[in-house]
Amino acid sequence: MTTQGMTELLPSGFMPSHLYVHVPFCRKRCDYCAFFSTTFLERIDEYLDHLEAEIRFWREYLRPLETLYIGGGTPNVLSPAQLERFMNILKLLPGFTDDYEFSMEWNPLFHTREKLAIVIEGGLNRLSVGVQRFDNRLRQAIGRAGTSVHVRNALSDIEQILKPKPDVVLNCDLIYALPDDNLYLWKQDLHTVMSFGPAHLSCYELSVEPGTALAQRNPEKLAEDDLVAFWQATDEILAQYGTLRYEISNFARPHSRCRHNMAVWYGTPFLGLGPSAGWFDGVTRWSNPADFQEWLIGTPPTPDRVDAKIRAREILLMGLRIVDGWSPELFRERTGFDLFELAGDVILRLQDEGLLRQREDGGICTTAEGLLLHDYLSVELLSYEESE
Ligand code: SF4
Repeated sequence: MTTQGMTELLPSGFMPSHLYVHVPFCRKRCDYCAFFSTTFLERIDEYLDHLEAEIRFWREYLRPLETLYIGGGTPNVLSPAQLERFMNILKLLPGFTDDYEFSMEWNPLFHTREKLAIVIEGGLNRLSVGVQRFDNRLRQAIGRAGTSVHVRNALSDIEQILKPKPDVVLNCDLIYALPDDNLYLWKQDLHTVMSFGPAHLSCYELSVEPGTALAQRNPEKLAEDDLVAFWQATDEILAQYGTLRYEISNFARPHSRCRHNMAVWYGTPFLGLGPSAGWFDGVTRWSNPADFQEWLIGTPPTPDRVDAKIRAREILLMGLRIVDGWSPELFRERTGFDLFELAGDVILRLQDEGLLRQREDGGICTTAEGLLLHDYLSVELLSYEESE
């Protein structure tokens, strides 16, 4: 089956307005990373050729974009000329809605004023900087290239450039619970990152993924109480800057939430282009080949088909990552199911346990404790069918 052939398998009316593009290149692999990327930077031009072909093929399946997210990999490892070409390829897409969001991941190590000017000129209005940590010892512990000085210099340059552009949102990604991490260093890094004025912050607990260099070192995991202390300190410190948790790992000032990720968590159909990109057609999840050569020769994506009720429960759980939770109408629109007919028993039990609460409109959302215990919610909601 070719990519062309697989489009016959998509639901009729699949016309997403959300697009993810994966740029699969990194100068050096970080020890903790399980995302697909290659260090063969000499293949970037081949990538751009094939991406252009993919966009020419898929553009008739897209509406004007509400959100476009460029992730990786390291999109800004591209040279200025390659980045210019990349932005020109994106112009083949059917354009944006008036209030679009266009994000790109940005590694401080490869930041230059010239590259940032190219992407802003192309309409970018959300820059997502991979800070991870400032402390050099912690950076080394996870094999993250660059030093605190590199990151600070890039951030202060970015801050200066974005100052006269209030419509461009700055996000910074951080990771906590690293090997030898402690609360003092984490608090210090939170204050440091906030001094550069980001309106959005993603704070991820380190997840040691099988097959990574970090997993081979089998680092000691922090105790549960310590993890809770990191979680609470993050809430307290970021609240001082008016930046509130709106999802398990995401914090934002008012009107600065990441709309692309919100769409994904709420089960909105979106398309993914580039090797390893995952996407959702409203019924089936698809994964593009996580192999550069396979992707180049046009190997079609692999489907993950599950029963409609299981998919609806997955979407229910994903939406419960967001503090607002679900209105009954939105849930029905995204899944075709009534919230309580689908999972009423387990919802009531989780409400009794204080992990979910009912919204005024009859929907449900996660309590602060439920957010912290989201893994437990997963087990309960996804194993519901077996207990029916
Ligand atoms: S964390 Fe980012 S820079 Fe590091 S290997 Fe993964 S994709 Fe590349």
